[in-house]
Amino acid sequence: MPSSSGRYSDVSGRYSDVSGRYCDVSGRITALSRSSSAAQAMEGVCAAVCTAFSVAYSGYFFTHLARHIARAWRESAPWSSKATSGPSLAACLPEEEAKGEEVAHQAAPAATAGPQHPASSRRAVPAPAPAASVGEEEAEEEEGANESAPAVSPEPERPTSSSTSSVLAPARAAAAGSEEACSPQAGNSSTSSSCTWSTSSSSGSREQLRERTEDECLATLRMLVSEGDPEAKYTELETIGKGGFGTVCMAVETATGEEVAIKKISLLQESSNELCVNEIQVMRHHKNGNLVNYVDSYLVDEELWLVMEYMDGGSLHDVIRETRMAEGEIAAVSRECLQGLDFLHSKQVIHRDIKSHNILLGLDGSVKLADFGLAAQLTAERSKRRSAVGTTYWMAPEIFTSKPYGPKVDIWSFGIVGMEMVEGAPPYLMKTSRTVRQLISSGGTPKLQNPRQQSAWLRDFLRCCLETDEDRRWSAQELLQHPFVTSAKPTSSLTPLIVAAQQFMADRRY
Ligand code: ATP
Repeated sequence: MPSSSGRYSDVSGRYSDVSGRYCDVSGRITALSRSSSAAQAMEGVCAAVCTAFSVAYSGYFFTHLARHIARAWRESAPWSSKATSGPSLAACLPEEEAKGEEVAHQAAPAATAGPQHPASSRRAVPAPAPAASVGEEEAEEEEGANESAPAVSPEPERPTSSSTSSVLAPARAAAAGSEEACSPQAGNSSTSSSCTWSTSSSSGSREQLRERTEDECLATLRMLVSEGDPEAKYTELETIGKGGFGTVCMAVETATGEEVAIKKISLLQESSNELCVNEIQVMRHHKNGNLVNYVDSYLVDEELWLVMEYMDGGSLHDVIRETRMAEGEIAAVSRECLQGLDFLHSKQVIHRDIKSHNILLGLDGSVKLADFGLAAQLTAERSKRRSAVGTTYWMAPEIFTSKPYGPKVDIWSFGIVGMEMVEGAPPYLMKTSRTVRQLISSGGTPKLQNPRQQSAWLRDFLRCCLETDEDRRWSAQELLQHPFVTSAKPTSSLTPLIVAAQQFMADRRY
């Protein structure tokens, strides 16, 4: 039991100080008793008090001991939810965060009182824990995090040497459906251009197969496109973008005045036919408010002209490069993208090239997924894919390790987009693509540079997206219920951000 000096008495009535040293107090009291009878009475009283406290304390001690043993036994029992559930929240956290989060998770009632989580979610999402609810050491950390969390993240270091325009555009795969284990094809990598890897063997039979596939795709393409002359139907106004396969221009439909974007893809490039077929088929068959809508397509000389809805806000990449996004804006973009992904995944389509360049914005704040050239349609017979396709920095670990994968690869890629929105660039941007592949396949969940500057909800949201185990990674549907997403601002809040990005870009041009 604690004394006023902060010491504790044990059951024998001895006192130990905080350093664990013992002193026999009753001995000193006995010596005093020889000098006075009053002291003798005091001695008796003290002895009685000490004994009473000792008995009380030992009762308290044994009660707690019994409670601890009972709790430990319950938790280790096979039916215990703790024993059967997945690893605790702390297990998924970066080392430096794990301790604080674990304590917050145990102590914060918010874990149960907070927003409802998807029924299928594998773990509770911690609400941002108030400092008061965490342990002493952890409270300090969490407090620091709360105080320093600005609405807009501070200036992150921006990479300069690996910009989207200055890097090589690696060749796209010959056979997007190839089921081989893939090896890297290009030494350098592009942040913008999608790439696939092919096996080093380029045997005659593979070449023949590829040619046949290309021919078959061209035949399919001829059936898919519209007849007629798009140059008579549309008036081209300006070139608005360049991708790995061609240019994109803005045009108006002469008869209606409707603005459209026309993507002109050269069919002379390797495997472009297959990509075009993919893109048209996905866009035609899957219409949704969060996907860029298909309008029409034509074959013009050696090019496919893909006419689609014009997104007047440019790409999310532009906004990320030019501005700092607040958490509510990041959440708004996340909600819209996840709605698009949830729709695609419900139709068994994997996008396979989710990155900020392929997320387009409208000035009204609309957010839509674009560029379906690498999309894959899953079927009952083929519910997983193995081809290593995508853009290196955004590719999921299971793709690099040549495991069969499903729609969750898009969730990983979106998690990387989340990190782009927070930090201005995907993780490992300054590393070589070989190193990036190694880091992604074996490095676990990429870590934010300054995790304490983001809210606990945002950090948890990213962890749910960037869970290395595909089975434990959340689905788009589950993520739509995540408190970070449900607390999103309306999409109209994105308009000032988009306008600012466009203004910065225009200022630089002139
Ligand atoms: P890659 O296809 O090599 O991965 P990418 O996605 O940047 O690269 P494209 O899909 O060809 O290439 O698009 C190039 C750019 O054109 C985009 O980044 C975007 O700025 C612009 N763009 C594409 N489609 C539209 C559209 N529908 N509306 C407005 N701008 C668009």
